[in-house]
Amino acid sequence: RAKRMHGCSFSIFEPERDITSPRQSSLEADLWNALKKEQFELYYQPRIALKTGKIVGAEALIRWHHPRHGLVMPNDFIPIAEHTGQIVPIGFWVIQQAGRDLKQIRSKGFHLEKLGVNLSFRQFQNDYLANTIARIVASESIDTRILEFELTETSLFSDDQHVQHSVEQLCQQGFDFSLDDFGTGYSSFALLQKLPISALKIDRSFVAKLPDSADDIEIIRAVISLAHNLNMCVIAEGVETKAQLEFLIQNDCDQVQGFFFSQPVPLADFMKMLTTGQQDPP
Ligand code: C2E
Ligand code: MG
Ligand code: MG
Ligand code: MG
Repeated sequence: RAKRMHGCSFSIFEPERDITSPRQSSLEADLWNALKKEQFELYYQPRIALKTGKIVGAEALIRWHHPRHGLVMPNDFIPIAEHTGQIVPIGFWVIQQAGRDLKQIRSKGFHLEKLGVNLSFRQFQNDYLANTIARIVASESIDTRILEFELTETSLFSDDQHVQHSVEQLCQQGFDFSLDDFGTGYSSFALLQKLPISALKIDRSFVAKLPDSADDIEIIRAVISLAHNLNMCVIAEGVETKAQLEFLIQNDCDQVQGFFFSQPVPLADFMKMLTTGQQDPP
């Protein structure tokens, strides 16, 4: 079934979007002006190193302040933006804003080892990806060693020369890459060898049932040892309980992210967190 939107028609394949709610249609229409109206904001979720208990990094996560719908979460609009191609300009805005925020963080005397920024598969379909990012890096004087692009397995699954070429160009600019939601896509070991990936982020679905699920225990242990054998850093997502944290510490996981420490928060709140601690865990 096709849907008309601002003169450009496209099909919607996702069955769950077959019944388009009024909210959904309004989000689809309003997304076109959201960048110009400066309605996006980056929230930050700390990344904690388990050896020290300190905040060593963060992940930037986009939020949309919609005038009528309030705070809109990425799962409600990133798929739309990917579908229409708007993710390309939105994605460039994210990198630019992350660069500006990093400058603020540095000006307060804090240091982050890594700041994760999510990249969508759709952004790789843009021929100018690496060049445009290079321009943003220059104009915002971004330290490329700190930004770590988070890719998903699905975005890399295609044999696409395109993707590999862009990743290599970005790697030459000094950026790092991590594999996000690891374990949920079509993982291939070839992929891990072919691309310059420096970190694996274990999907939170594997963390959720720790430390009780025998299967998940084995999967997590295997991923941690795989990562370490390939000289990669391993980060567990979605850590919500002390028991999960303790399991991950005992099993030599490097870093964690999750509600146990903090939800994603606005930059000002994140910087407060850095003040009280590049800090000890609760
Ligand atoms: P992701 O990259 O896997 O980000 C992690 C998501 O897990 C975030 O959701 C975060 O709030 C959530 N999370 C973190 N810790 C916990 C926890 O302990 N429990 C639970 N239940 N959830 C936790 P968020 O911010 O809603 O983002 C959802 C997804 O949207 C992201 O998943 C990412 O795929 C996408 N996204 C977010 N920002 C961007 C962006 O700037 N660009 C692109 N292309 N995608 C983005
Ligand atoms: Mg991510
Ligand atoms: Mg993830
Ligand atoms: Mg995820």
